[in-house]
Amino acid sequence: MRPYELAPLFAPVETLKGVGPRVAKLLKTLLKPRRQPESVIVLDLLLHLPAGLIDRGEIVPISEGRIGEVATLKIRVAEHRPGGGRRYGRAPYRILAEDETGALELVYFNADKRYLDRMLPVGAERLVSGKLEAYDGLLQMPHPDYIATPEDGLPALEPVYPLTAGLGNAYVRKLMAEALPRVPQLPEWIDAAWKERQAWPSFPEAIRIAHAPEAESDLLPTAKPRERLAYDELLANQLALAAIRSRMRRAKGRCIKGDGALRDKILAALPFELTKSQRFALAEIDGDMAAETRMLRLLQGDVGSGKTVVALLAMATAIEAGGQAALMAPTEILARQHAKTIGDLAETVGLKLAILTGRERGAARQAVLDALAAGEIDILVGTHALFQEGVEFKDLALAVIDEQHRFGVHQRLSLQGKGNAAGAELLVMTATPIPRTLLLTTFGDMDVSRLTEKPPGRRPIATRIVPDERLEEVIAAVSRALSDGAQIYWVCPLVAESETLDLAAAEDRYADLKDRFGDKVGLIHGKLKAAEKDAVMAAFAGGELSILVSTTVIEVGVDVPNASIMIIEHAERFGLSQLHQLRGRVGRGAKESACILLYRAPLTETARQRLAVMRDTEDGFVIAEEDLRLRGGGEVLGTRQSGLPAFRVARLPEHQELLAAASDEARLALTRDPTLKEPRSAPLRTLLYLFERDDAIRLLRAG
Ligand code: ADP
Ligand code: MG
Repeated sequence: MRPYELAPLFAPVETLKGVGPRVAKLLKTLLKPRRQPESVIVLDLLLHLPAGLIDRGEIVPISEGRIGEVATLKIRVAEHRPGGGRRYGRAPYRILAEDETGALELVYFNADKRYLDRMLPVGAERLVSGKLEAYDGLLQMPHPDYIATPEDGLPALEPVYPLTAGLGNAYVRKLMAEALPRVPQLPEWIDAAWKERQAWPSFPEAIRIAHAPEAESDLLPTAKPRERLAYDELLANQLALAAIRSRMRRAKGRCIKGDGALRDKILAALPFELTKSQRFALAEIDGDMAAETRMLRLLQGDVGSGKTVVALLAMATAIEAGGQAALMAPTEILARQHAKTIGDLAETVGLKLAILTGRERGAARQAVLDALAAGEIDILVGTHALFQEGVEFKDLALAVIDEQHRFGVHQRLSLQGKGNAAGAELLVMTATPIPRTLLLTTFGDMDVSRLTEKPPGRRPIATRIVPDERLEEVIAAVSRALSDGAQIYWVCPLVAESETLDLAAAEDRYADLKDRFGDKVGLIHGKLKAAEKDAVMAAFAGGELSILVSTTVIEVGVDVPNASIMIIEHAERFGLSQLHQLRGRVGRGAKESACILLYRAPLTETARQRLAVMRDTEDGFVIAEEDLRLRGGGEVLGTRQSGLPAFRVARLPEHQELLAAASDEARLALTRDPTLKEPRSAPLRTLLYLFERDDAIRLLRAG
């Protein structure tokens, strides 16, 4: 049960004065609560910290007011000009105001005449403060934020909050003023010595101070109250992940050891030798599976680095030990691809493999389920349908999850922890090079194996950064390469968050290149039907097309070894990991490969550095670390699909060191009190409830 002292923080925002359904809805838009059902609570509001600071104290003459900025003016009210005729509501109500240096209009839409007569009587002197705008060459201040008499004056410093349309700063401040007194006293969960060394305030103090910045530096992630709150948030995150982890560890594992018979057969059937890092990863996996505890291991490696083979060999061990194995892919297509590649090998060595996705229905599905329960299927490949109800293995020993680029595994980890595949060893494969920092926030202290070598046969890719003014030279080079029989990917810019606009850019380039090179040019994009896409890809793979113009749809799962040139327009608009994935499409065959990153000048300093990283290295992990350093955590993986926890106060990489400290602290706390049920762990329990990670407590207590 949530500690009672947290009740005021978990009260719905509707309990604040002045918040009705309309404002509540705006607050939902602004604060994006993640809980289900989606309601906004007082705590959400309190963790919404100011992003700016306005000094209203300084009074400027009208002539010096700058358009687009907030200014405080001392004016005399000259004249009221109510809006047009009968319908006040339409034309704005304008009030002419002046000082010695000039004049401006105060503008009100949907004005309340009585209010304005009272606040701004003709002839009176007033302080008005608000944003200045220009309209028809006239200086205006629409809806001043403040009106005061010169005697009363204005509050000097005002925190400015991130806002949403319909919700002004003054209103948000009013809500904060109501919410702040509700912050309760809470037990301290941070170690006293550490807190003192950091010179951190308590949680309630931190909230109060964070909302009353006095200088720009108070708005930085390094401000003490913000550090404190960030640490709290990270600690809750790390505790929750440590809980999942410790639950998995405590779950009675089994010793899975094979006799190597199947594995040897597979190795003999492979047309290649394992690389050093594949062998190393496999040894780590064997060690985990043989141990009493359950395996929870992440296998990282670029697309094509050979993860699937490693997974298959691990599955072989599980089957040698008498169990079954499952391989789950994020999409139907990838599941079928896996079934095909693994299926051939599996068949050669006498393993029985079946596929189960949403597409298998009725009798066919039932046949798979029956065979699975009877233990007649060794390996089941599929989508998340694998872990749905009604799917029962005779003895699932190893579950492999192929995340590809999705990277949303932590939900699934907890799903696993809760039971369905209880007892199975777990191997997660991802092609996303994830920096350590992000690994920690998303997986916690998880074991990781990395396939660091380039797949055999991969060749270095010469990467060049070229301004788009030199497009003609690039096209001339393309023309030469074509006569050498090269195949070329031409990726078009991400124009906006709009598929239609992306498409327009790609279609223009396609038309342009077709004019020059004729029928050898093809176009592929996300709006094509699956069959049309397949046809274009087949034509490119078969060599009928030499240039493939595309939006970013080619990012995932395309393999045309003869393609040796990758051209990316407006490369500065792509994420580094995306550029990395795109570039990885070439360098797969015998030809010398090249990647040309076209950019539109001028580049920002960060953009310049990011492209330089691409030019200087092909190591996905280095690229990911640099991306994190240059951009910050939320964007590296694309927050939307990344499955990254959305931190409200913590910022990465700025709070990277706090994250490391939180991780250590979480581990220590669970070593001291593995279920967090002792009295001394009470503050940590409160913390978990505070950040809504209390599922961790249930997880720790369960079985
Ligand atoms: P991933 O799953 O990491 O994307 P795959 O396991 O699908 O990569 O491997 C990509 C390709 O490389 C496959 O055709 C596979 O057979 C091949 N491959 C894997 N390991 C090796 C190796 N050690 N030597 C040569 N080729 C390999
Ligand atoms: Mg693969």
